[in-house]
Amino acid sequence: MAALVDDAGGTDARRLRSSGVPVSTPRVVVIGAGMAGILSAIKLREAGFGDVTVYEKADRLGGTWRENTYPGIACDVPSHLYSYSFAPNPDWGHVFSSGAEIYAYFEAVARRHGVDRDVVYGAEVSRLTFVDGRWEVETTAGGRDVADVVIAATGVLHHPSYPEIEGLDRFGGAVFHSARWNHGVDPRGRRLGVIGTGSSAVQIVSASVDTVGELVLFQRTPQWVLPVPNPPIGEEDRERFHRDPAALRAVRAELAEMFETNFANAVVDADSPQMKVLDQMCRANLEEHVSDPVLREKLRPAYRAACKRLVISPDFYQKIGRPNARVVTETITAVEPGGVRTADGRLHELDVLVLATGFRVDRFMRPIEVTGTNGASLDAAWAKRPSAYLSISIPQFPNLFMLNGPNGPVGNFSLVDVAELQFGYISQLLELVSDGARRYVSATVEALDRFEAERVEAAKKTVWVTGCRSWYLDDRGIPAAWPWSFDRFRREMERPNRADYELAG
Ligand code: NAP
Repeated sequence: MAALVDDAGGTDARRLRSSGVPVSTPRVVVIGAGMAGILSAIKLREAGFGDVTVYEKADRLGGTWRENTYPGIACDVPSHLYSYSFAPNPDWGHVFSSGAEIYAYFEAVARRHGVDRDVVYGAEVSRLTFVDGRWEVETTAGGRDVADVVIAATGVLHHPSYPEIEGLDRFGGAVFHSARWNHGVDPRGRRLGVIGTGSSAVQIVSASVDTVGELVLFQRTPQWVLPVPNPPIGEEDRERFHRDPAALRAVRAELAEMFETNFANAVVDADSPQMKVLDQMCRANLEEHVSDPVLREKLRPAYRAACKRLVISPDFYQKIGRPNARVVTETITAVEPGGVRTADGRLHELDVLVLATGFRVDRFMRPIEVTGTNGASLDAAWAKRPSAYLSISIPQFPNLFMLNGPNGPVGNFSLVDVAELQFGYISQLLELVSDGARRYVSATVEALDRFEAERVEAAKKTVWVTGCRSWYLDDRGIPAAWPWSFDRFRREMERPNRADYELAG
């Protein structure tokens, strides 16, 4: 990874420094050393918090980019936008970079900022208990710590969802989840089965079909696919970005504006002209690139584009049309030692079976056992479903903040920008309790209830409720996501409304 252009000391840092946060207090524990945890460690240090520990369950940082290493993995947010605003990268090789390149980027930024000195690896936090005004932190290995503030940067899509299919454990070949790719297995020249048609499955199919002997895609629901090309970023441009940091910033700003106008603000208004354009582009992609009429109808969704998380691929239709690829739409009834049995009685013989079946999206910081004030448990607070005021703070859980928590703009924008904006907001909450007069801050029940009621109402206009099943929808069928414009999110993150928070201590 070549040089990163850093613009350290952002506005959050300056604001906190000017508020006179004593360098030795408070003690902050960050959970998770993925994109949001690395961000927290950097920003806390810049702001003068000298006592920070990041607990990371794995033996290295990187979060989702460490865990997802399947063939073809990439990010569908342009790389110049999927980077920290304070560490633009002139060396991105493609518009949408590979997972390995993204991992290397986060590692390089963390290294440049000395994040490692704050990280304890191999330490999975298992319990957080608010006792006598501080958070007791326990790890599965029996480690103990105490903190004044906890930031949960535990990610969203990190607990694989395994399908309940009879006989799955009796498969005679290799079987693994897309987020737990077994690199000890070489599928080249063999019969590869993939269950699922989400972003992960589509990338795996595109990357694998030309090297495997046979590829069988088990499709429960077809997906709309937006054909966005992924050209390399030329040497000339990369040199220009090195010479001219302003040009690099300009690219990021342009992409942000484009993404915001054409996607983030459009998905929250199902009737927006941009949604119609997206729909037409997906339909045209299907018509133009799947010539076999039987396959085309198999792949045609019966819902609107972007209702489910939009799949972005420059070549999925071309790849799934290869002579060695098959799409199976019959329901899977069982997995047998020899392969996958479907409802029509057919056994699809396979050597390798990949479960690209998504994630348990309602977990967030769980399974950590969290106990707040007066014995309040997070499991009880989230018994129906997870919620948090502005996806950051939960009543009765003081000084515990989440980055990319429940119901945020998870499918609307670059999660890096989302986390940066959220961190700026959290840093202002910390200011409220850093003057010594008040020590604890948490959202009020009223603020959370009002936010949830408004969110549920606004969700009715989004494209996510136009008639599909997706991981965005909660048990009530309401999108667990930010249903407003990205501009509104930015404005909300500008400054906490003091009346929405309870200060104590
Ligand atoms: P996903 O979108 O949740 O897709 C899971 C797939 O598995 C769906 O097609 C689902 O079918 C199918 N499935 C689940 N259980 C099944 C069962 N029992 N039998 C048959 N099929 C079953 O998961 P994902 O592809 O891992 O993607 C998750 C999210 O991660 C994405 O939406 C995106 O936000 C992110 N992601 C992004 C990228 C990228 O940036 N390019 C890449 C990968 C992931 P149904 O549709 O019928 O439920």
